[in-house]
Amino acid sequence: MPAGFLFAILEAMKASVDFLGGAESVTGSNFLFTPEGESPILIDCGLFQGSKVAEDENRKPFSFDPKAISTLVVTHAHIDHIGRVPKLVKEGFSGKIYSSPPTKDLAEFMLTDSIGVLAKEARRDGVPLIYDEGDVREAMRLWETRPYHEPFTIGSVSIVFRDSGHILGSAMAELTLGGKKIIFTGDLGNSPAPLLPDTERVTDATYLVMESVYGDRVHEGKEERRDKLEDVIEETMRAGGTLMIPAFSLERTQELLFEIENMVEHSRIPLVPVFLDSPLAIKVTGVYKKYSNYFNAGAREIIRGGDGIFKFPQLIMTDTTAESKRIYEVAERKIIIAGSGMSNGGRILHHEKRYLPDEKSTLLLMGYQAPGSLGRVLQDGGKSVTIMGEHISVRARVASISGYSAHKDANGLLDFVAQTADTVKKVFVVMGEPRASLTLVQRIRDYLGVDAVAPKAGEKVELEF
Ligand SMILES: [Zn+2]
Repeated sequence: MPAGFLFAILEAMKASVDFLGGAESVTGSNFLFTPEGESPILIDCGLFQGSKVAEDENRKPFSFDPKAISTLVVTHAHIDHIGRVPKLVKEGFSGKIYSSPPTKDLAEFMLTDSIGVLAKEARRDGVPLIYDEGDVREAMRLWETRPYHEPFTIGSVSIVFRDSGHILGSAMAELTLGGKKIIFTGDLGNSPAPLLPDTERVTDATYLVMESVYGDRVHEGKEERRDKLEDVIEETMRAGGTLMIPAFSLERTQELLFEIENMVEHSRIPLVPVFLDSPLAIKVTGVYKKYSNYFNAGAREIIRGGDGIFKFPQLIMTDTTAESKRIYEVAERKIIIAGSGMSNGGRILHHEKRYLPDEKSTLLLMGYQAPGSLGRVLQDGGKSVTIMGEHISVRARVASISGYSAHKDANGLLDFVAQTADTVKKVFVVMGEPRASLTLVQRIRDYLGVDAVAPKAGEKVELEF
C-alpha cells in the first residue's frame, strides 16, 4: 500500500462555514456549510428586519450562486430565518428544502403574509417586490419534511433535527461529518415553556453556531408570569374596561390562548369574550391544533382532560374585517388579542385608537418593543401618540410582562453550552446585537474555559472534522 494512501485516511475531513447573515445582527440568519470537495449546504435563508439598512440588504443579490446550492436546511418558521427563501428560489435555486413538518406548514402562511409588508416597502421606495405568491408556491414545491430525530444524508453529511423548544416545529440542525458534529442552534427556547417541550440537551457537539439574542440580559421569573397575566385580566375586567394585547401571531398568541383557556376552565377569571383578531394568528393557531402531539407532556395532559385546545365558549376568532369591526358592538368588558406585537401595524392599531383614551382599559405588552415602535413609546409612558394620523390621548393603563419571551436568557444560553463543554472545540456566537454576542463570548470563555468567537458578517472559517 503506498504511504500516501494511509496518510489520506488519517487526515481529518475539512469543511468551511460562511457567516453570510445573522452575524453581527439578530436577523437575516444565513449560513453556508461546505464539506471539502462537496456541494454546499445552506442553513436558513432569513430576512433582515428592523431598519431601512436591513430592508436594503434584502434586495441585494446573494453572495453565492443560488443555482450552485442543492440543499437548504431550515431551523424554524420565523421570518428572520425563512424570509428570503422565495427570493432564493426566484434567483435559481432548484434543490431541496428540508425542515420539520410544522415548520413547513407555518412557513407557507408566514411567507404569504409577509408579501403585504414587503409590497408596502417596495411601493414606498419605488423598487420591485423581492418575491411574490408564485415564488412562495415554488418554494413549497421544493420543500420536504423530516420529523425530529430522523437522520437524512446529503453527500458525506448526516443531518438530524433536534427540538429547540423555541416555537412549534423549531429545530437545531445537527450536522455530522467524519464522526464529529456541528450544531446550528437556530433560536433556543426559554424552557420551560407553557406549550412546548424543553430544549433538547446537547452533550456531544464539536462545534456550535448559536444564537445570542439575550446574550447580555436575564428574564424576569417564569413563575410569576401566569399570576401577573391573571391579575391584569381581573383588574381590567373589575374596572369594566377592555384589555388589549398586541401579540406576535406565532407562538406568543397560542401561549396566551392556552393560558387564558386554563384560567377560564378553572373559573379563575370572569367569563368575558376573548377576541382573536388576526387572520394570520387564526391560521397559525390552526397549525398548532394540527400538531398538538408536539406539545409538552403537561400541555397534552390538559388537552386530554378538557374539550380540545384553543376552543372555549368565550373565544371568538374574527377573520374578516367585517367581523373585526363588530368587536366594538360588544360591551366594554372583553379581551382583544391582535397583531402586530409591537403595534407597528395590523388591527391592534384600530383597537388602540378606540380604547387607549379609556381610563378603564389596559394595554398589555408581552414581548420586546423595539425602539421607535408605537409599542415602545407606550411602554415608556407616552401620554399622547399619533395613530393612523389621529392624535390620541393615552388614559388607559399600560402594563408589561416579560416572562413569556421565546428565547433563552444569558444564563440559559450559558447552561446550554455547559452541557457540552467537555466536547466542544469552538463556539461561534451569532444572531445577537454585537453587545449581546460579545458578552456571551466572554462568559463562555471565562466560566466554561471554552473557545468562543463572534464572527464578523461575511466571515469564513475552515474547520476540521
Ligand atoms: Zn425565532
